[in-house]
Amino acid sequence: PSAMREVMVEAPTITWEDVGGLDDAQTRLREGVELPLKHPEAFRRLGIRPAKGFLLYGPPGTGKTLLAKAAARESEANFIATKSSDLLSKWYGESEQQIARLFHRARQVAPTIIFIDELDSLVPARGGGLGEPQVTERVVNTILAEMDGLEELQNVVVIGATNRPTLVDPALLRPGRFDELIYVGTPDTAGRRRILAIHTRNMPLGDDVNLESLAQRTERFTGADLEDLVRRAGLTALRRGLDTGKVGMADFETALGETRASVTADMLEEY
Ligand code: ATP
Repeated sequence: PSAMREVMVEAPTITWEDVGGLDDAQTRLREGVELPLKHPEAFRRLGIRPAKGFLLYGPPGTGKTLLAKAAARESEANFIATKSSDLLSKWYGESEQQIARLFHRARQVAPTIIFIDELDSLVPARGGGLGEPQVTERVVNTILAEMDGLEELQNVVVIGATNRPTLVDPALLRPGRFDELIYVGTPDTAGRRRILAIHTRNMPLGDDVNLESLAQRTERFTGADLEDLVRRAGLTALRRGLDTGKVGMADFETALGETRASVTADMLEEY
């Protein structure tokens, strides 16, 4: 069966306010993506070329997708999300067609941010990637050709993401391609405090809930881990009765006992 799929255009609702603990990454995306998409004329006047491609790299669940969506929303740009496995088709020519459609659609609805997840999978199967060597090479070349073609437009930006930056095909990282590398790591204590605040925004918290203490005790937790912790605390409160009014510190303690950081110290060495 053909793997050709519709190119879905989204208008994301995520804002910078929904992203916690990634201030540096956020600043770089604001300057690199938001500014050129909102004020292309300023770049033209100064004769500088804005970056076309950004690579967000770091452990899973740290907010790469979230950042890309916030960048789109705050740039008032459309958002098209795809992942490498969606672009790899074993049918001859289909991958190229799919990529062509992707970029064509992006230009049609520009300004647009194209998000390509799992960028590391675009390497030959022997390297741990998904596809046949010839297919991945063609896919990489087609993406590069499309990105080269974005030169004059300045209103389509590509954001790639990977958990395994060392596996990304070096051809994708050359100047004019994914040449802005942005690390998206596990949050520090202040970042975790902020992420916990974001995810408990709509939760009635007991007076005894101490987010600062929780932030201090969740080292190496990612944003996704913290979201899971909050959800489990809510479920624990629910277990006490359907009419339980608030989620208390004891519920968070129970949840802490059920969860741990998904990222290990070993994993962090890769970055
Ligand atoms: P992957 O590499 O697995 O694709 P990712 O880095 O793209 O992961 P996201 O999909 O952005 O991670 O994060 C998953 C969910 O975890 C988000 O939808 C959000 O609810 C929560 N989350 C992750 N990071 C953050 C963060 N920095 N601030 C707030 N919430 C976060």
